[in-house]
Formats: sequence, structure tokens, C-alpha cells
Amino acid sequence: MKLFDTHAHLDSEPFDEDREGVLERARGAGLVGICVVGCTVPSSQKCCELAAAHPDLLCAAVGIQPNYVSSVEPAAMEAIAALAERPEVVAIGETGLDGYWQDAPMDLQREFFEQHLELAAQLDKPFIVHMRDSGEEILQVLTPRAAGGPLRGIMHSFTGDWELAEAFLAMGLHLSFAGMVTFKKSAELRHVASRVPADRLLIETDSPYLSPEPLRGKRPNEPARVVHTARCIAEARGVSPESLAELTTENAVRLFRR
Ligand SMILES: [Zn+2]
Repeated sequence: MKLFDTHAHLDSEPFDEDREGVLERARGAGLVGICVVGCTVPSSQKCCELAAAHPDLLCAAVGIQPNYVSSVEPAAMEAIAALAERPEVVAIGETGLDGYWQDAPMDLQREFFEQHLELAAQLDKPFIVHMRDSGEEILQVLTPRAAGGPLRGIMHSFTGDWELAEAFLAMGLHLSFAGMVTFKKSAELRHVASRVPADRLLIETDSPYLSPEPLRGKRPNEPARVVHTARCIAEARGVSPESLAELTTENAVRLFRR
């Protein structure tokens, strides 16, 4: 199987003890690509360094995750813009809006989200969107931008309903599914994943968070486990795991221009 994990926080602390082992197991599981995604300036910097050190397997995304926007240094976006020019950086993010944790005022989150979208457009790189209890607000931000033509980006760890999925698909966006889709109670989300057009479907771990079934609760999650998400979505779509893996890998390679 040829797999691509479009969203992993391999820079984060739970991987400090065994990062090389994590990469080894990923290769063993058939991963040919992993996008390591930054959440702050130091984390984005680390993602770049990791990707530069393992160019055969890793690429990077740089950005300020919405829950961190009120605690970053004043010149944070300048630092992100500088990192974004590096060759290993294939996307801008993660950005987006979080209405659940409320770690940062929504106005400030929106300001940063717009700046990330602007940077992505300038550099002609896709953006990666975090959406939690913020579907309507994100639609409001993206709709005027989509009026100018299809958008290049990923709704990451998508958990919305089909109506929201359709709205993002109509804008040209890709939908990426994480471990949540494998959970027993997620029948509706599996149905959404089964309806996404083949050329817009992506898979991810969002590791170290949320291990897929049958490993739910076993931490940290890691890229090798994306195979379980691939199998689950393949079953929902009535295709073989191999073809689902190949399809989502092709989509990631095309979107990231790897
Ligand atoms: Zn993330």
C-alpha cells in the first residue's frame, strides 16, 4: 500500500523519545509522504528542519494554529512568511478558526486566518484549515475568496456534515479525514467520506492525537496508523484499501506538488 498522511505534528513532544522509530514504522507501513504541520513559529521552524532532514518522506506546512494566535510574538506572521519560502514547505497552516476552546478571540483568529490565506495565495501554495465549531464562520471567510476562482486548500480532520462538505467542495477544496471517521459512533461522518469525489479525498492522522480504531486511546497516534483510516474509508466507499490508498496519495502529491 502507498499511503500519504497529510497532517501530522511530528515536531511535538510525544515524539521526542522515538522520532526515528516513528519514521521507520511509517516507511514500513507503506507511507511515501507525510506533511508535518506547524502550530506556532518554533513548531513551524522545527517542522521545516524535520522535513529538510528527511526529504524522501517528509514535507512541511507552516503557520499559527488558531488556538495559539493570542500568545504569539508580534512579528509571528513575518517569521511564518519567511519560513514559507523554504523549498520543503508545501502548504500554509495550520490556520482556521476554533469556536470550541476559545483560547483566542474570534476576531483575532479571523485576522490571522485571512493573513494565512493571503500568504498562501501570494506563494501559490495550498492552505490547511482547522475547523472546530466554526463551520459557518469559515464559510464566511472563504466564500468571497472563492468568488475569484477555485481555492487550493484542505479542510483538515473534517468532521462536518454533508451540507458543509458540499459547500467546501464547491469552492475547490479537498477534505481530509482523520481517525475520528473510524469510531463506532461516526456513521454519519463515514457516509460523508463515502460521498466525497475521488479527486478531493485525503487521509491523515493528526498525530499525536486521536488514534483510529482499533487503536483508539493508544497514544501517541503516529503516521503508520493512517492505514486504519484508509481501510475504514475504503470499506465505506466499497473499494479496495490499496486503491483508496493510491487515490489519496495521488491527490496529496498533486495538491502539494511533491
Ligand atoms: Zn493539526
